[in-house]
Amino acid sequence: MKASKYPLFTQKNNPSDAEIISHKLMLKAGLTRQQSSGQYSFLPIGYRVLKKIENIIREEMNAIGSAEILMPSVQPSELWEESGRWETYGLELLRLKDRHQRDYCLGPTFEEVITDLVRKDLNSYKQLPINMYQISSKFRDEIRPRFGIMRAREFIMKDAYSFHLNQECLDEWYENYKKAYNKIFTRLQLEYTMVDADSGNIGGSKSNEFHVIADTGEDDLLIDQDGIGVNYEIAQTKYNSDDIKKIIRENNLVHKKGIEVGHIFKLGDKYSKSMKLSIANAESKICNIEMGCYGIGVSRIIAAAIEQNHDDKGIVWPATIAPFKIVIIEIDGHKNESVRLYTSELYERLSAKGVEVILDDRDSKLGNKLNDWELIGVPNIVIVGKSEAETKSVTFKKRGQDDKSSLSIEDLIKITSD
Ligand code: ATP
Ligand code: MG
Repeated sequence: MKASKYPLFTQKNNPSDAEIISHKLMLKAGLTRQQSSGQYSFLPIGYRVLKKIENIIREEMNAIGSAEILMPSVQPSELWEESGRWETYGLELLRLKDRHQRDYCLGPTFEEVITDLVRKDLNSYKQLPINMYQISSKFRDEIRPRFGIMRAREFIMKDAYSFHLNQECLDEWYENYKKAYNKIFTRLQLEYTMVDADSGNIGGSKSNEFHVIADTGEDDLLIDQDGIGVNYEIAQTKYNSDDIKKIIRENNLVHKKGIEVGHIFKLGDKYSKSMKLSIANAESKICNIEMGCYGIGVSRIIAAAIEQNHDDKGIVWPATIAPFKIVIIEIDGHKNESVRLYTSELYERLSAKGVEVILDDRDSKLGNKLNDWELIGVPNIVIVGKSEAETKSVTFKKRGQDDKSSLSIEDLIKITSD
């Protein structure tokens, strides 16, 4: 990629409408733009980060044997009437009519659609368990969309669903998803914790949330020394505040703020019962299918990662989700043929090694270019001018660190293509 032909949308001024640092930096670094309340477009840099996160999630879902699918986002009201949620889901459900005055909604979650999908094709218990997931846009008409893509009305979610003949099989798969989630958040290089949670609008007997720890998080978590915790919401349903204070003191619990990035549920037979999804087992006994569902807020993770990883210059991406691995900043390449030839050579050699590199060949001052890339947060920065071209070296700097060093081309390739 060459920056002269790549649409970068960095801004110098601080956006006035952004309350938290991730929202501010996403606008400044040109990751997203608001279309209307709670709805955002992803610009090229933001979309690259989104795809990186999606791919890590996809790899770990595939690794446990969950199969990727895609379902329509406009859902017929009949399915929601069957589950009873057309009445109970409330105003977050955006309802619409087609030209025949039939009722639909924009999918906020897909339990009804996937239960219907599976009941049409399930004809033997031998097909179970079934595990499927999708990564797609969800729509929730949030009462107060805020903090940019953190609490949006339209956002990207990974939602997986599992179908089992019995509770034991659901329990086993619930653990498989839990392990996959731990791998995902570890690979995303985020500080996170898992807590017992309330099942809310989705329902079921048990649920766990995954939270990225950040002071700007909207959830209150109580965590013990082993990193195991509960969402404060759960404690509140059982105890009053004086009690809760006593429990925190006596168990030495720590209070932390969290951003909810994942939520997994044991649904049991909540949907299979109401939507009549059952099958005869080996003894010809008719059983309601046991279900689980497993969500990850894919787009919210971008904001959560920035809340945890930034400094006064901008974003400092964890290496695994950075939009590019390295930027080559050219000094006056448009005026100096030898610099241009040298940066092209570097760019080609890194690209040939499969390194995700962008060459900043714009006709702009070094300071401006450097500011842009520190703001965007590319982890490795290389500066090349006349003297580097003459000595066939590069000036190298890690994002987040001040010191610069001189490297040979070979060392640069070694560092960035490991
Ligand atoms: P919250 O408590 O934040 O409203 P939720 O419990 O309603 O979220 P779930 O139904 O568990 O959300 O959805 C799965 C995941 O989708 C959440 O863990 C979260 O990461 C993400 N998510 C939910 N609502 C939004 C939203 N409005 N904007 C961005 N991501 C969201
Ligand atoms: Mg939730």
